[in-house]
Amino acid sequence: MYFAHLPASYLMVKIVGLFGFSFSLPEMVVIAISGAIPDIDLLLGFALRRGHHRLLTHTPIWMVFIWLIVVVVCDLAGIGMSLTATVLVLCSLLLHLILDEFGWWSYLFGLQRNNCGPQIMWLYPIKKIPDSENEDLKTSSIISYCLKPFPQYFNKYPANRWGEIIITAISVVVFMVSGDIFRVLGDVGLIF
Ligand SMILES: [Zn+2]
Repeated sequence: MYFAHLPASYLMVKIVGLFGFSFSLPEMVVIAISGAIPDIDLLLGFALRRGHHRLLTHTPIWMVFIWLIVVVVCDLAGIGMSLTATVLVLCSLLLHLILDEFGWWSYLFGLQRNNCGPQIMWLYPIKKIPDSENEDLKTSSIISYCLKPFPQYFNKYPANRWGEIIITAISVVVFMVSGDIFRVLGDVGLIF
């Protein structure tokens, strides 16, 4: 997925909240941002001229590593994370991988015709997936490396497209209706 990671992680927090858990604004922000953190490896993919889904940095093992880093950084920054919030950070990181695999599973379940192939090396390092040969990764800038596949991705994989749109749209509505928008704006000093 491209842009639905952070919205999806935000929705995950709200769904868990329905079961009586409450989260401070910093906890919510950390969990939501954790959903987008794994794609930092686009920089590494660009440098190596490889698809970033084929790197160690998009595997469950690496998510545990990022999780520990986030926990330490939050501790150093004085963000008191509850046990539930700490666990949700890991869930958010793993949700990222699940969403990146969404296109492949949609194909398997007949929700879209085009086969993007498995994206995530769930069993790494026991089982690896070879690099895709069709991918043209010889781009001159990180921006084109990230955005060049997007039009084809958006047109070719309707389940991915609608997944991105629906998740993002629902999260925007929930963000506004739940009043979280005012919590955030109030926290950054835009409303009093
Ligand atoms: Zn990703």
